[in-house]
Amino acid sequence: MDVMTLIDGKKVSAEIKEQVADEVGKLKKQTGKVPGLAVVLVGEDPASAVYVKNKNKTCEKMGFQSFSHTLSADTEEKVLLKLIADLNANPEVNGILVQLPLPDHINEHKVLEAIDPKKDVDGFHPVNVGTLTSGGNALAPCTPAGIIEMLDFYKIDIEGQHAVILGRSNLVGKPMASLLLKRHATVTICHSRTRDLPTVARSADILVAAIGKPGFVTPDMVKEGAVVIDVGINRVDGKLVGDVDFEQVAEKAAFITPVPGGVGPMTIAMLMKNTLSAFKKTNNL
Ligand code: NAP
Repeated sequence: MDVMTLIDGKKVSAEIKEQVADEVGKLKKQTGKVPGLAVVLVGEDPASAVYVKNKNKTCEKMGFQSFSHTLSADTEEKVLLKLIADLNANPEVNGILVQLPLPDHINEHKVLEAIDPKKDVDGFHPVNVGTLTSGGNALAPCTPAGIIEMLDFYKIDIEGQHAVILGRSNLVGKPMASLLLKRHATVTICHSRTRDLPTVARSADILVAAIGKPGFVTPDMVKEGAVVIDVGINRVDGKLVGDVDFEQVAEKAAFITPVPGGVGPMTIAMLMKNTLSAFKKTNNL
């Protein structure tokens, strides 16, 4: 087999963040304004709190204005909806991110639908989902958008390739399919009811694993020379592992993403890129 290339998500993410920060600096000189990102956290989940802190830090480092709102776990839905309405109306806020999951007493759909689609930098609003699905230019969910950036960075052909996506979530699997279709791949989505998944996976030129099961993708599911993208983040004995049995699959793949250091770092870079896009669109830049 030819030599395998490790896709370095940290490197691609750093390059995107640098480009975005440069553009923010230029636009600040030109307009006196910078993009603003509001992050809303409900509850005290420690993992979510770490994500939110990191997002705020990244904002500051990259010259964005950052707005952080932490509400207690027993916050009423209407209080959260009022906060979102205020953020929708605030001209300094270009992106609104509500950290998921929300507590059980809050209707997640209702909250996500309350965000102004122009500020929906997570790309979860039905208007953006619909625009993306019909092939338009919408704010796209950050994780799958980041995967497209990685494929482009490594000059991996997408057009005409058979892409197989394992997982059909609204967060990853479905938007990944829309983005790959937009780039003219032939797309197959597999899920827990798929019959003979290994055979389908083995026909993939590009295999995206987003199911949340450690080591699920074994070498018998991978075609020699395939591109393997591992979205999974699983904790096993205190260690982060993906959905792909990395050591063994790396022997067959032409390109593969590691976990950690693959898809993970791309998500935040794309969040900043989406916020910059929303800022530019609102300000006709
Ligand atoms: P999810 O909402 O739990 O969806 C999992 C999907 O996998 C579902 O469509 C499910 O099928 C399918 N699935 C589960 N077990 C399966 C099996 N045995 N065979 C075939 N399909 C199976 O998960 P998600 O939010 O998409 O996330 C997936 C993974 O990516 C998780 O590990 C998550 O932590 C990670 N993730 C990483 C990032 C990042 O930044 N790197 C971002 C988001 C998510 P059904 O629909 O039939 O139930």
